[in-house]
Formats: sequence, structure tokens, C-alpha cells
Amino acid sequence: MPAPRVIYWFRTDLRLHDSPALKAALDLSPSCLYPVWTWDPHYVYRARVGSNRWQFLLDCQSDLSASITKLNPKSKLLLIREAPQTLFPKLFEQWQITHLVFEKDTDAYARERDEKVMQAAEEAGVKVVVKMGRTLYDPDELVKQNKGKPTMSSSQVQAAGAKIGDILRPIPAPKSLPSPGKTDLTFEPEVPASSPDINLPQRNSAEKSYHALAGPKGDFAIPTMAELGLKPATTPHRGGETLALETLAEITANEDYTATFSKPATAPTAFEPQSTTLLSPHLHFGSLSVREFYWRVQDIVDKYKKKGKATQPPTSLTGQLLFRDMYFGAQASLGFSFAQTYNNSHCRFVPWHLPSTVDKSSNLITGHYRIDSSEAETWFRRWKTGTTGFPWIDALMRQLRQEGWIHHLGRHAVACFLTRGGCYVDWERGAEVFEELLVDHETACNVGNWQWLSCTAFFAQFYRCYSPVAFPQKWDKEGSFVRRWCPELELFDRKYIYEPWKAPVADQKRWGCLVKGDGDETGDDNMKVYPKPMFDFAERREVCMQGMKNAYRVGLYGNDAKVLDGSWRTL
Ligand code: FAD
Repeated sequence: MPAPRVIYWFRTDLRLHDSPALKAALDLSPSCLYPVWTWDPHYVYRARVGSNRWQFLLDCQSDLSASITKLNPKSKLLLIREAPQTLFPKLFEQWQITHLVFEKDTDAYARERDEKVMQAAEEAGVKVVVKMGRTLYDPDELVKQNKGKPTMSSSQVQAAGAKIGDILRPIPAPKSLPSPGKTDLTFEPEVPASSPDINLPQRNSAEKSYHALAGPKGDFAIPTMAELGLKPATTPHRGGETLALETLAEITANEDYTATFSKPATAPTAFEPQSTTLLSPHLHFGSLSVREFYWRVQDIVDKYKKKGKATQPPTSLTGQLLFRDMYFGAQASLGFSFAQTYNNSHCRFVPWHLPSTVDKSSNLITGHYRIDSSEAETWFRRWKTGTTGFPWIDALMRQLRQEGWIHHLGRHAVACFLTRGGCYVDWERGAEVFEELLVDHETACNVGNWQWLSCTAFFAQFYRCYSPVAFPQKWDKEGSFVRRWCPELELFDRKYIYEPWKAPVADQKRWGCLVKGDGDETGDDNMKVYPKPMFDFAERREVCMQGMKNAYRVGLYGNDAKVLDGSWRTL
């Protein structure tokens, strides 16, 4: 039998360390190994990806390619600009491939894509090897061990995980890699036929690059931001396995921090450095293995346990990783419907977008369909642009736009504010903004956490609401975080930093910033302008609370809905 000729398809695993799928590929003792990344139009065109996440991806690809070349100077990451569904059948033939190996991906879209690729492989007589490596447990196994149901709590993950068995120890990175064979591409690329419905700025240039399968120079190079027609990234958070492992080493070198980490005690107002690990984008792109993270932490925890000092899930560091697995388990079970309310058996129906004032004597449960409120549209726009007039919310939204990452409790604050704790805008719209701006955007975690914060799934205590004034004051009395992101308020006294509209006008003038307008005024160097709050928070909290009480009383879920007149309503 001739030695196997293998394509290793990199997707959610941009690393060499602890990759069960890469190990499986090498265990085949291939005569040649093609490390391939395909230009999936689903991500290039359809997904909302801002410049910061693009940059992180390109960083990861560059670092991975360099690491591959270190192990074999004749090899590197082969970036090919065509959809995997149409590309692979042609590659199988051209490169006489015998095996295709990749990491398992349980995202709803990925499952569909991989089904098609596996079918094409079968037709071409190519063997497919798929291994899990993206989460602590295989999400499908978690669901199976959770009585076939989506995992909706961290304790369900722990119980199901215990039935699956121990989390496996990480596998070391390979010490060498086989060369790829000939890399000729003599076929025409297939350009996606129809334009997607999302108008992304990078579409045109990305579309052009489709015409050059191996890139403009034909060398399979990783594209630059300019080549993609993207604006330069503004985030300081950079990608790549090398950096991920260095960061993990730095974090775990502080054993006290690692073993006694308690999420609720980490400050959302801390910056440079932040109070949590900021490893989430590395986990998203797979530049860090989650098992590597888990075991580095767990070994320290085990040491500290003997001293009786270590924290435990759900608040500990390993507890955070279990939350991640929980959302993957929920998504694996619910598929496409997980990412929306419509047709989702586990997501509560809430009639978002109620008008700003509600007559409490009226029966809110009639008219369970979306009521458009132009006022709510304005609130949504102001939330998105960080001009709500609530400095805590604006600072977070500006940090998100600039850096692509905010602390978990900061995410709590802005998500609660947009949905059940202020604007009463649909969580799906907030999740879309996060999808575009986060460097760590992970569909399962983003959607799941938005459902948690909007109390539509996972969490039900809607009476616990974050105040944009009292909550940040607990962490940062001086308002340093707000001053960092809303520099127009830099000179405000700490007494007014979270409520600048309450400062006497004479003081506002003295501090060089007037609180006026609705976010459209910019002011000048002599007198800056910060917007007035877009509503009375206490009043809005009451309105939202009333809406949530009614929604819970009615108790409808997304799968109780039906499409009528082009929109959807509950039955
Ligand atoms: P750490 O506190 O250091 O935790 C370590 C790791 O555990 C993280 O890197 C992350 O992978 C995981 N983790 C921690 N908290 C959670 C959580 N609640 N849910 C799932 N995983 C968690 N996380 C994402 O990875 N991608 C997202 O798109 C995302 N969207 C979110 C949207 C909202 C509205 C909210 C409230 C949270 C979201 N999170 C998301 C979860 C969480 O905020 C981030 O994982 C965390 O802030 C990342 O920072 P860190 O790496 O410093 O976390």
C-alpha cells in the first residue's frame, strides 16, 4: 500500500500543541502532509467580522505558518481562496489525496459544511478522520450524557462530564512534519454565484481574491488587511499560538492568582492590565488548546487544594471553561435555532421593543408581537455608538469598538442595559453588534450569554438588574475606567463621574465639558460635549421589569411562534 497523502484542514485549531486531530494525521505516517486553510465564504462574506477579529485571524495564521516552516522548511500553511465544499473535490484529485483530517466543529453551519465535504470525500474514495479538540468534552457526548438535552447549567456539564470520564491531558506539539507534495492548482476557482445579503466592506476585494486560488502571487500567502480592503485594526490584542502560550505561562506563573481566581471578584473596570486572563480570542481561534489551559490551571489548583485555598467551579478559572462547554453543549443540541428566539424551544419569548412608557393597567400580554418603537431604535443606535449619556455604558461600548474585548461583567452591564434593564431591545440585535466587534466572538458563547443576560434562557432572575451608576461605583469610585474611554469627562469630580448630568453647569464649564444634546454634538477643544442620558433609568427599569413579569407569566418560548404577515408572532 502506498503511504497516505494527507490534507490537514486547519479551521478552529490554529496551533500545533495539543491537537488530537493533527496527531491523528501524523499517526497515519503520511508521505506528504498538506496544511490547508480554505477561504470559507460563510466567514468571508456572511459573518459579521470587524477589522480587529480579522487581524487576530491573520496573526494566528502567520504564526502557525511560521511554526510549520520551523518544523519543515519545505512546508507552510497553504491558504486557498475557495469554499471547502467546492475546493476539496478538486484538491483530492489534483493532489491524489488519500486522507482528509480535521478537528470536529459542532457549530450549526459547520456541521452542514462538513457533511458536504465528507460526502465529497466518500465519493472520491478519500478517508476522513475527525477528532474533537475544541472543548473540554465533545459537545455531542455532553448532550448524550445529559439525557439527550441541551446543557443549560454548569452543574449539568459537570454531571454529564463525570459520566464521560476524565478530561484528557494535552498532547505535546509534534517535533517534525512531513512536506507537502506538489502544490499545483490547475483548475479554475469557483466564485460564489450569488451575493450575500450582508453588505460588508471587504466583500469586493475578497471576491476579487477568489480569482487567484493561491493568492495574488500564487504562493498561498496569508492575505494582508490592505489586500482584503479592510481598515487597520485598532485592537492591542494580537493573535498567534506563540503569544497564547506565552500569555498562559505568564498567568499561571502567578499561582496564587490562578488557584484563587474568583470571577465575581474580578473588576470589570480594571484595564492595562485587565483582571481576567483575556485568553478568550485564543480559545476561539484555537491558538490555545482549552485542555492545555485547563490542565495548567488544574495542576496548580490541586496543589493549593491541599492548603485549603483553591476556588472551585463555577467561579474558579476551570469553572469558566465549563461555562464555555455548557454553551457548546446547548448549541450542539439545538442547532441553528439556538442562535435565535424563533423556533427555539429553550429561549423565552419576550415582546421586545415596547414603547417607552407603559400603562401598567393595560394588558401587556395581548399583542405578543414585536412593536416597533422609533425611540427604541434611537436607543439601540446610541447604545451601539457609546453615546447613551450613561458614562459606564458608553465607556464599555467604546472599549468594545476600539479593542474588541470587554470584561465579562462589563458585557453583563451593556447586555442587561440594552435588553431587560433599560432599552427593552431584542437580545439578537445586541448579539449581532458583539458578533461584529468582539475579537473573541464565539457563536455558542455569544448567543448563550445574551440569552442569559436577557433572562430568555439559562438565567431567570430578571429582577436583578445592573444600575449604570451604582454597579461601577462599587468597583471604581474614581471613575478611572470612564475617564479612559470618555476623555471628555476626564476632569469631572468623582461625585459626578457616573452621573455627569447632575453636575452644576458652572462646574461642567470649569471641567471643560457641557452635558447636553443627544450624542450628535461634538463640541471643540475649549468646551467638549457629552450627551444627556437618553432616558430616566429608574423609570425604564420599572417598565422593563413589568414587561419581563408579564412575559414570564405568559411563559411562551420561541417555538410557540409562527410566521405571519412576514413577521413572526406567538400563537
Ligand atoms: P476569563 O475570565 O479569564 O475566563 C477564561 C475563559 O473561560 C475565557 O477565555 C472563556 O473562554 C471562558 N469563559 C469565561 N466566562 C465565560 C462565559 N460566561 N461563557 C463562556 N465562556 C466563558 N465569550 C466568548 O468566548 N465569546 C463570545 O462571543 C462571548 N460573548 C459574550 C457575550 C455576552 C453578552 C456576555 C455576557 C459574555 C460573553 N462571553 C463570550 C463570555 C465572557 O464574557 C468571555 O469569555 C470572557 O469575558 C473572556 O475574557 P477572559 O478570557 O479574560 O475570561
